[in-house]
Amino acid sequence: MRLSPLLLPTATVFAGGWFLLPSAQAWVELGFFLSTEHRDFRVWNNFGDPEANDHTVEHPNFPGYTGATVAIWKGAVEWGSRLHGDGEGDPSQPAGLGSGGANFDPSFQGLAQVAGSVGDNIHSELQGCSGGTHAFTEFFLDGSGSRTFYYSCWKWEDDPDPSWPNQTGKLDLQGIATHEFGHALGLGHSDDPGATMYATTENGKSHRDIAGDDVAGIKAIYGTAAPFKPRIDEVSIDRNSLTIHGANFAPLDNEVWFTRGTGAGDGSPIVAFGDSPSGETLIVTVPALAGPGDVLVRLGPGGGERLSNAFPFDARLECDPITITCPTTPNSVGSGARVILTGGQSVSANTTVLNAIGSPPGQFGLFFFGDDTDVVPLGNGTLCIAAPLIRLAPLPIDAMGRASFPLDLTSLPQGAAIEAGDTVHFQWWYRDPNGGGAMSDLSDAIAVPFCE
Ligand SMILES: [Zn+2]
Repeated sequence: MRLSPLLLPTATVFAGGWFLLPSAQAWVELGFFLSTEHRDFRVWNNFGDPEANDHTVEHPNFPGYTGATVAIWKGAVEWGSRLHGDGEGDPSQPAGLGSGGANFDPSFQGLAQVAGSVGDNIHSELQGCSGGTHAFTEFFLDGSGSRTFYYSCWKWEDDPDPSWPNQTGKLDLQGIATHEFGHALGLGHSDDPGATMYATTENGKSHRDIAGDDVAGIKAIYGTAAPFKPRIDEVSIDRNSLTIHGANFAPLDNEVWFTRGTGAGDGSPIVAFGDSPSGETLIVTVPALAGPGDVLVRLGPGGGERLSNAFPFDARLECDPITITCPTTPNSVGSGARVILTGGQSVSANTTVLNAIGSPPGQFGLFFFGDDTDVVPLGNGTLCIAAPLIRLAPLPIDAMGRASFPLDLTSLPQGAAIEAGDTVHFQWWYRDPNGGGAMSDLSDAIAVPFCE
């Protein structure tokens, strides 16, 4: 066993003296309380050690992030009122992340690009060393937030399943982050060697799994979860509509907090509002700025009894699959032309490309699209899309019988618009003089669901 001194909290602003009163319990309060306005945190992932970011597989309970960011995120949710998602993500905790029921529900707000100021609630690596101190948290005594640094002279390890002491010489980022969150939430050091808030690490680890003493300490500050506290049990998404299942939602105007996905923020959650007549089902439109992370529901300003648990949510909408709605017809060069879409179905990416294959080389053709299907004989084939039809520019067919059209969604002809949530039907018409008959033909048709 190697004991290292570490992790002294630093009070940046003294609003008067504060004292560590001797008492029967081991935990110690620092003397502040974070309202629900100050429960966000971010990570500036500037950790330099490869070991700090070598866990590169996303876990569904921590969507959109990997490495040091997730190790720190896990440290935060351990203090939550309920399991984070299904609690999975830390093999060293059989009861799951958040199983302590400590009743502090944090709002993960993604990445920062700077260390920020005290009160910005940003975790990052600090260049250098300070004796035996591994990390420290600065905080305001008026409860307006903190900032946490991890010294770069130590070797930080993000592994969710560390096989200590084989990793001697490294520090467990998740466990020490859990300890630092304890400071950020208002706890000092505990005398209980079994507590996460114990002042020293053992073989480079703080206890990832908060102990009864830690739970008692945090409940002394934030109370026990109230029976009327909102609760998220499950979330489901259909296009950009998020359905939250749980309990104790307000009939009107629940605040739903999202993790910011795009753009620079100050750590404040991205907020949408939704009604819940039943109190158990809440439906909101996912805001454009939301990204993968957590959702929380707040009933309005107040303490933690008005804020739900943090629940994982992946805002990266997956587009529904493309379907073929109409078969092709044989032509002069084979079994018939087909439409194939490449470049994805994301409206925001705007990289969709329409491709035709199996057409007569040297001829020309054009793609067209519409909102609905139809079945009407046309030329030597079948028109599979109902009017009104939007025609794209004519294209030459190359020597391999192919043609391609990058579909710029920002400049469609005839005033057409394609938005996330739309399903659009595409087909290809082409000249086929050797096919006889009407000397023209059509490909198969595809239905393409577009998404964000
Ligand atoms: Zn400490």
